Amino acid sequence: MEMRDTDRALVQAAMAVSKLRCRSQHHTVASAARTADGRVFSGVNVQHATGGACAELVVIGTAATQGVTVLETIVTVADRGREIVAPCDRCQQVLRDYFPQLRVIVGPTDALRVVPLRELPAEAGSGSAG
Ligand SMILES: [Zn+2]
Repeated sequence: MEMRDTDRALVQAAMAVSKLRCRSQHHTVASAARTADGRVFSGVNVQHATGGACAELVVIGTAATQGVTVLETIVTVADRGREIVAPCDRCQQVLRDYFPQLRVIVGPTDALRVVPLRELPAEAGSGSAG
C-alpha cells in the first residue's frame, strides 16, 4: 500500500514520542495510531518483569479512554525513534481481534510501507521489544 502524507505524519509523531519519552529501561518503545477522521493517539510501553504492557496496548487503552474504539493505522518505533518495528505476535493478535481492517506501517525508515495487519509476515512480530 502507498504511504500517505498522514502516514508519514504518524511516523513522525511516534518517533517524536520515542525520542522524548523512551529514555529509561521502563519505556523503550513508542507507538502511535490514527483514526479514519485524523485523531492521533500515542503511547509508550511499560516494561516490567511481570510482563508489563506493549506500547500498542497502551495506545489502544489511551484511545478507548477518549471514547475511540476504531483505529485505522498504527506504527511502532523503537531504539529512540531510529527503528520502525512491527507489533509483536501478542499485539498482532489483539489488534486483529479489535481492528480487523487496521493498516500497519513497517519497514526500514528509508523504505517505509503500509501493509494490512492480516498480511503482516509472521516473523515481523519478533522485532518489538515492548
Ligand atoms: Zn506487543
